[in-house]
Amino acid sequence: MSQDPYEGLCMSGIAMTSALEGMGGFKAKALAILKENGVEDFQSDKAYPFFMWANTLHAIAKEVGSFTIYNVGRKIPETAIWPSEINDIHAAEASINVAYKMNISGENPKADVGGYQHVKLSENSCRVICDNPLPCDLDQGIIEGIAEKFATPGQILKVVHEEGSCRKNQGRSCSYLVSWYDL
Ligand SMILES: [Zn+2]
Repeated sequence: MSQDPYEGLCMSGIAMTSALEGMGGFKAKALAILKENGVEDFQSDKAYPFFMWANTLHAIAKEVGSFTIYNVGRKIPETAIWPSEINDIHAAEASINVAYKMNISGENPKADVGGYQHVKLSENSCRVICDNPLPCDLDQGIIEGIAEKFATPGQILKVVHEEGSCRKNQGRSCSYLVSWYDL
């Protein structure tokens, strides 16, 4: 593991648990990778080094493949509990960043953990720009899972990774276009 650019920052075990639960049949493999990265006995009420967790997610993504890690992301919003004021896709997509920041503890003024920037494009479309150090496919799954959760019945939903920068190709960020419409 290279030097930790996020020294002092930790990820909440609760957030890690929701990702691990989303692994389904791959959970044992995910826990094994976590163990390789130094977490012998994972406990959801603890917090763990943010950099270690980011590396673990990338190692899991490499192991299980992009489609599986995308599906893990899609499952994460299913079990999450949402404040009642969040009741549409725009509000829900905007809340990812708040949840992300809330799950990171500790202090390091030099570290930039990035985030999830929601830009409303129209009543029925938005862009989410991710410049956090987590896997692209996982984020696309999360963004799609949230849109699915808050779409009204019968709505058609589309999430596409915009062309250009992608973190998979050492890009600084990934941008996803979310759009939805009624049949
Ligand atoms: Zn990407």
